[in-house]
Amino acid sequence: MSDCLFCGIVEGTIKANIVYQNDLVVAFNDIGRKAPVHVLIIPRKHIVGVLDVTLDDGAVIAEIFQVAARLAREFGIADSGFRVVVNSGPDSGQSVFHLHCHLLGGRQMSWPPG
Ligand code: 5GP
Ligand code: ZN
Repeated sequence: MSDCLFCGIVEGTIKANIVYQNDLVVAFNDIGRKAPVHVLIIPRKHIVGVLDVTLDDGAVIAEIFQVAARLAREFGIADSGFRVVVNSGPDSGQSVFHLHCHLLGGRQMSWPPG
């Protein structure tokens, strides 16, 4: 999608610190880091958000979680714990409308989230 920030990162027209990518997903450091590890994992395909996921997206959704687990191990937060977050809509604070999973870890977190 031409005016989508994260499609620009997928296509390479917008710079990002990419930490992992394959044929289904791209993972890169969040520019506004909220924890020592803060990676965004996105599908290459433009999906607006949770409300737009269909069964046809099953493989890419599974891959997002597999990559979250892979990066959690790689960044040393698999055992200490981490959080995966997907914001949806105004109350959540979603600000980019290309599905993305936040992988956060490396510090103690509170519950419930703010
Ligand atoms: P949301 O608030 O939609 O759940 O998350 C969007 C995230 O994208 C935010 O955490 C924000 O810091 C991050 N972000 C926004 N613009 C950019 C950018 O240009 N590059 C990177 N790497 N992250 C971005
Ligand atoms: Zn997009």
